[in-house]
Amino acid sequence: MEVTGTFADARSHADGVVGLVPTMGFLHEGHISLLEAARGDCDTVTMTLYVNPLQFDEASDLQRYPRDRDRDLALAKDAGVDVVFAPGPEVMFGTEPATRVSVPPLTATMEGAHRPGHFTGVATVVAKLFAGLQPDRAYFGRKDAQQLAVVRRLAADLSFPVDVVGRPIVREGDGLALSSRNVFLDADARRAAVTLSRGLFAAADLAQDGEHRGDRLRTGVVDAIADAGGPTPEYVELASQEDVSRLDVLDRPAFLAVAARVGDVRLIDNVHLEVVPDGVTADRGVRLDQPSILYARS
Ligand code: AMP
Repeated sequence: MEVTGTFADARSHADGVVGLVPTMGFLHEGHISLLEAARGDCDTVTMTLYVNPLQFDEASDLQRYPRDRDRDLALAKDAGVDVVFAPGPEVMFGTEPATRVSVPPLTATMEGAHRPGHFTGVATVVAKLFAGLQPDRAYFGRKDAQQLAVVRRLAADLSFPVDVVGRPIVREGDGLALSSRNVFLDADARRAAVTLSRGLFAAADLAQDGEHRGDRLRTGVVDAIADAGGPTPEYVELASQEDVSRLDVLDRPAFLAVAARVGDVRLIDNVHLEVVPDGVTADRGVRLDQPSILYARS
């Protein structure tokens, strides 16, 4: 496994079909599932390790974001990564970038509305990674459903010759979506956090029982979270997977998304819903059958 901080070096170690997995590190099984998918499809797997300051809207969140380079490199090696691109700040943005990439029609709501500047930060860095590393395929988690739509759209609009691949959400045994930030949850917050997925799954059940009205599905999430003693969400939305437009009716591939603060940790989660001829499919993700590596202590 090569570890490098320059684009040219990362490209020089890649051949054949190149699969890119962008991460901010502090790896968990969600990241590993992306690496495994890339390993199965591609000749070279390149993982990026970069905590992107442009995408943080709160300085305190950036400052405390969990980091452990040695741990990440060991996990990447185990997952069969060929190249780790871990640039320093001077390589990514040695001078303040004059160019920004933004995708306004897809980022006016949900995370875009609650985290000003977040998606411009994501899109600018993803475009730079696509340009500098020239992957054939790039792997992203459905956990960040709005981000996935934004990345697909920027790749299409800017003609990056890359296939953007979306992968299912990996969850802890009780349903909580894995997130590097889960390490900050204390016992009370951890109990509250699991109610988000419970709410989403309850509403997915409603959808599968025939309820296609957006307002009913959204209310279903809010009520189920409240019934489980969880937090008041920042938002609950039913949105098109393709263009993130708000849906009044579940009539196309969609995701039902929630964001909430538990303690001082902000969490997001969603279920992808799709209308098929004999009903609705709901992607509830995949669950671990043991504690996450997030909590392993060496
Ligand atoms: P991050 O390091 O949080 O920026 O995430 C890097 C990539 O991993 C993104 O494409 C995320 O959507 C994806 N990811 C994060 N958490 C999960 C999860 N629980 N399941 C699947 N993918 C995830």
